[in-house]
Amino acid sequence: MTIPLTDISNPPAPGSLLWQITRNTEPASVEAREAVLANPGFGQHFTDHMVDICWSEKGGWHRPRVSPYGPIQLDPAAAVLHYAQEVFEGLKAYRHADGSIHTFRPDQNAARMQRSAQRLALPELPTEYFLESLRQLVALDGAWVPDAAETSLYLRPYMFAKEAFLGVRAAKKVAYYLIASPAGAYFAHGVQPVSIALTQGFARAGKGGTGAAKTGGNYASSLLPQAEAYEKGCEQVLYLDGEYLEELGGMNVVLVRRDGSLVTPESDSILEGITLKSILQLAEDRGLAVEQRPVTITEWRAGAASGEIVGAFACGTAAVLVPIGRLVADDFEIVHEGPESEELALSLRQELTDIQYGRADDKHGWLVRLDA
Ligand SMILES: *Cc1c(COP(=O)(O)O)cnc(C)c1O
Repeated sequence: MTIPLTDISNPPAPGSLLWQITRNTEPASVEAREAVLANPGFGQHFTDHMVDICWSEKGGWHRPRVSPYGPIQLDPAAAVLHYAQEVFEGLKAYRHADGSIHTFRPDQNAARMQRSAQRLALPELPTEYFLESLRQLVALDGAWVPDAAETSLYLRPYMFAKEAFLGVRAAKKVAYYLIASPAGAYFAHGVQPVSIALTQGFARAGKGGTGAAKTGGNYASSLLPQAEAYEKGCEQVLYLDGEYLEELGGMNVVLVRRDGSLVTPESDSILEGITLKSILQLAEDRGLAVEQRPVTITEWRAGAASGEIVGAFACGTAAVLVPIGRLVADDFEIVHEGPESEELALSLRQELTDIQYGRADDKHGWLVRLDA
């Protein structure tokens, strides 16, 4: 039995939602799960269950459920397949030394998903439903949260237009899903600086576009530039808006000055990273100056040449923080090498992961326990 969740402005308390729970009768065996957790990689293996919640124009949010992980039945005319009306999120569940399971600032992901949904003309999922979906999935699939150093269970909430209609307008039927995938340590042999290609022909987002929304379309348009970057021996692409720095395909960018102050680009078309926001907060806690303002590629180039800018890094949930060792453009290259180029970045990375894994005091109250 389910209670329709119709009143979005005043959702019932999570305890009062009646979730339909169907356990997977053929879950992965303990041996199979342990084999995956011993070497999870990223995004390749999925847990035994998934969450979905329906939305319709008439009924609002309704029928929250947990069911066995498996294929989704979708009408071939479902709007998402034609017009890409879709948003997603990404966050992690971390196992602490005492076995408990925590996630990091999920309220921020819920709020960002609401902003993304607004831009893509999708309904906003109330924060409480979002948080409850995480708890419900972890309640069944908690054993899939690995415990080795720097591993986690990657949580992927997403929402798409499922109405079967080829007319161009916001869909009247939408689905929210949550799936989970164990994630290995991003760097198996210590954090290594990455090489980034500066793309001069392609843009990630335009003024008034969807750059600030976490939506699949932004990623679709990044695949070709990304493939070209690989050919140049680079792992990722840095996008510009004219002369101004934007971000990588899926990570924000920060420059490190000689005096330890940080500079990160500000623009309407950058996705507001929660890792970025948290790193900047930790830097401010240390008394370091933090500037969020438009930054040109010329400033970076000149600063690197003069020694004013000593390093740079990219940050996002999946990799946490990676130092940028080289920025490769068609006609120039910026190189940051030597310990001083990475020292601050790596210590901020350490401080953040210490909080996430329960090794340091969570002084900002960023952790939310999921298994209790
Ligand atoms: C998700 C994402 C980020 C990083 O955000 P986090 O909340 O730190 O994971 C940065 N840029 C883009 C385009 C993204 O999609």
